[in-house]
Amino acid sequence: MTNYREVIMANPALIVPKLVVARGVLAGFGESWPPPQARTVLRQVTVRDRSLEPWWARRLSRPRAVATVLTQHECQHEGCGAPRGEPHWNGPVQEWTNPCGHLDLPEHMIIESWLVEIAYVEQRYPGRTPATDAIPAEPESSSRLAPFQRPDLGRG
Ligand SMILES: [Zn+2]
Repeated sequence: MTNYREVIMANPALIVPKLVVARGVLAGFGESWPPPQARTVLRQVTVRDRSLEPWWARRLSRPRAVATVLTQHECQHEGCGAPRGEPHWNGPVQEWTNPCGHLDLPEHMIIESWLVEIAYVEQRYPGRTPATDAIPAEPESSSRLAPFQRPDLGRG
């Protein structure tokens, strides 16, 4: 059995078309992400965002770009679901150690926040977005988007 989340984590470009659709649906209803109620049920963390760093800085230990994102409170590794560790600040980013032992990579937190955003739109506006459990057979964007690169959503 293929785990949807693991597939997306390995190739985040697969969900870019869905993210674009989800944000289009939200914008069509005059909403923006995140809505106030999302902040109460999700966990906000600030993590390193290598996709926003210049190429020469990505191997340096000191982050040069960060992203503040909303994720689940529970570990999302397959079959886990244990509470995540308490975040603490280390310079410009937050870090935590999960009691279950699973490692949460910063880039995976950013992708998870996209999955959370898509799932929210699917629940609020059913039928307006492609279901998250359906993996596109032919990723339209993977050839031009490197892993962990932010999608161009055509804003501003
Ligand atoms: Zn875990």
